[in-house]
Amino acid sequence: MIRLKNEQQLDGIRRASRILSAVLDEVIQRVEPGVSGHDLDRYAYERITELGARPSFLGYMNFPASLCVSVDRAVIHGIPDKTKLRAGQVVGIDCGVVIDGYYSDSAVTVPVGAVSAEIRKLLQVTEESLYLGIAEAKVGNRIHDVSRAVYRRTKSEGYGVVRPYCGHGVGLEIHEDPQVPNYVGKGPNPRLKPGMVIAIEPMINLGGDDVRVLDDDWTVVTSDGSISAHFEHTVAILEDRTEILTLRPGDSHGVRSEAV
Ligand code: MG
Ligand code: MG
Repeated sequence: MIRLKNEQQLDGIRRASRILSAVLDEVIQRVEPGVSGHDLDRYAYERITELGARPSFLGYMNFPASLCVSVDRAVIHGIPDKTKLRAGQVVGIDCGVVIDGYYSDSAVTVPVGAVSAEIRKLLQVTEESLYLGIAEAKVGNRIHDVSRAVYRRTKSEGYGVVRPYCGHGVGLEIHEDPQVPNYVGKGPNPRLKPGMVIAIEPMINLGGDDVRVLDDDWTVVTSDGSISAHFEHTVAILEDRTEILTLRPGDSHGVRSEAV
């Protein structure tokens, strides 16, 4: 069941999103060689709680941290640890915030120091595919219009598109209907309506599509060990526009909600 949000609920989700994007922006600034996922996670926890919210991932299905930190071949759901990041790696940082029962969700993949041109392009194209998906997330379109935009952009580069995990409704719970896949499959394809809030999150690999879960029962990695990228925004579908709720000041595309 897809829950349409009223104005008051949208305001609550906006509040969660503002805290989330501010903290994520600060976490991104702290990524550099020698810093660990654990360091980033502790910082995020302290800032989110300082701002009066709660990290929604912490304790969710027993997840032990506030951030998912997914390095290199890790696609999503990496558990932060004390391993120091090294120049040339990429780190996916996924964060969820809840305040007064309102949820928001956003992720970004950041280069650590200088990375190869091949990796830079993977990050650029994956982020671009997120914005192409967001541009299709409007009243009258359907979920698969979003999926198709992400898929076409990334497959045109020969990248792997992760299928078993996808975007989702969000706002009153951490995960809600509908599913927002990054490919066009045979699943539900609801029409987008005013009041829908969805997290769009391309997960794209330099190699093949296939992924598997590590023995920690969380970390999803590429089966072929190739580097993976993940970008995510929570967006609200409104009558006359689509609002990117988790937009950060430093977003490379800088697409303001009015422009979508
Ligand atoms: Mg997320
Ligand atoms: Mg999500």
